Amino acid sequence: LTTRASGILSALNIPLNKELSGVYDGQWKGSGEVIESVCPTTGEVLARIRTASPADVSETLTKTREAYLQFRDVPAPRRGEILRQIRERLANKREELGALVTLEMGKIRSEGVGEVQEFIDICDYAVGLSRMMNGRIVASERPGHTILEVPNPLGVVAVLSAFNFPVAVYGWNLALSLAAGNATIWKPSPTTPLTSIAVTSIIAEVLSKNNLPGALAGLVTGGQPVGEVLVGSKEVELVSFTGSERVGRIVGQAVVSRFGKSILELGGNNASIVMPDADLSLAVPGVFFGAVGTAGQRCTSTRRLFLHRDIAPEFLQRLQKLYASLKPGDPLDDNTLLGPLHTPAAVNLYESTVEYLRSIDADILFGGKGYEMTPYDGGNFVQPTIAVPKSVEMSDRIWSTETFAPILNVAIFDELEEAIRWNNAVPQGLSSSLWTRDLRNVGKWTGPSGSDAGIVNVNAGTSGAEIGASFGGNKSTGWGRESGGDAWKQYVRWSACTINFSNEAPLAQGVNFNI
Ligand code: NAD
Repeated sequence: LTTRASGILSALNIPLNKELSGVYDGQWKGSGEVIESVCPTTGEVLARIRTASPADVSETLTKTREAYLQFRDVPAPRRGEILRQIRERLANKREELGALVTLEMGKIRSEGVGEVQEFIDICDYAVGLSRMMNGRIVASERPGHTILEVPNPLGVVAVLSAFNFPVAVYGWNLALSLAAGNATIWKPSPTTPLTSIAVTSIIAEVLSKNNLPGALAGLVTGGQPVGEVLVGSKEVELVSFTGSERVGRIVGQAVVSRFGKSILELGGNNASIVMPDADLSLAVPGVFFGAVGTAGQRCTSTRRLFLHRDIAPEFLQRLQKLYASLKPGDPLDDNTLLGPLHTPAAVNLYESTVEYLRSIDADILFGGKGYEMTPYDGGNFVQPTIAVPKSVEMSDRIWSTETFAPILNVAIFDELEEAIRWNNAVPQGLSSSLWTRDLRNVGKWTGPSGSDAGIVNVNAGTSGAEIGASFGGNKSTGWGRESGGDAWKQYVRWSACTINFSNEAPLAQGVNFNI
């Protein structure tokens, strides 16, 4: 291992050069196949991890259910206190864990740390929530009756997560799930196992200190077969899945076929629209971060850019200048803004998409190739790319599919209505942003004939959401909502309880059934 890597692993007490156990259900274990965690920057193998076998998954599920049966009777504010302690532990390890995210996933350090901060923030949120997960009292039409809508813990929540947010997505789910009185079992991406082991260890310490079962926050590393067991298991009340549309379609159908609950957070294909009255000093850097941040590997990355004809030349000129100033490098270096793609497969996807752009005679304004990257020849570095396809037919695959790489496709429009139509003309509906100073455009954009996405921003880019609002997308993005807002309501089971405290037993709707 390079010292760069060993320092980060040691700071989190991850043993070096030793096979790691990738399953936690109160004990660390694992008897499945061995996977490698590979650094996207250098190509070095960071660790070997023994993943979950089918028997491990089934045992962990049993332990998780036992943990739930114990935890559901713990009062919610007491559950919040556990989350407060998890928050403190995470805050103490923020920099170290953030560096591990950078090492293993490849995003730049401030984004790695930012992800851990997001977990800390959602813990704060859930601590408050633990005293506010209120039901309702509903006015009854019958005298001497009252109706309560009561939230109770749901059961076991399986969290299946994607590689690109290896901490935050689990954090959103774990915090709400624990506050709601559930037990959680996590299947992280098979390419970010180290991060999941480090996070689980931190939580396990807190649970153990509070004499709670470790399986309240269980871990089963592995790939598709492990995910399939969880998705198909009747022992899992809620499957919270984050990943591609392709896999989400399979997962959603499998869960519904057994009448389970699911939250689907799938791919995005996000557009920014720039009006002629926009403040370009905000819009240009906003689009730049949206398209290039995380090397284009956010579900909310800006993939489509619609420019009003009047400002298009100036906008593109300024944007290309920013692109040209980018220096790829080690994402652990504080000066780096552009790290590698996560895997060689992502580089292949990038290359084949650029090839396709060339085949349809798109103008490649910037990028379109890899970088010569000594001393990081083993890394997955590609040039962020700006392209102007000839066709603005949104059904063409260049517009209608999410390519998880830093490729920004540009089209020119004349009327806002046209740009909104394009915005809405793709299967996905995650994030969208409009740059304007005209209130009338804002009204149109956020209203019934506006953007059909789950995130509809004005003078703010497509990526970089806060935890307070519920996060998620519509249409083929899966309609899921996580994190803030009313998202917690999905992690409980709701009952309507009619209580008669009178001496009569009248029926609803005035129905008469007297003998
Ligand atoms: P992916 O779909 O390849 O994998 C996601 C998870 O599903 C992984 O843990 C994987 O092991 C598991 N999996 C694969 N096949 C499975 C099966 N048949 N049954 C059960 N589980 C299975 O996604 P990825 O490449 O890791 O992540 C990138 C994708 O995730 C992008 O499309 C991105 O937009 C999306 N994403 C969406 C959000 C959101 O909130 N909407 C957030 C982050 C990422």
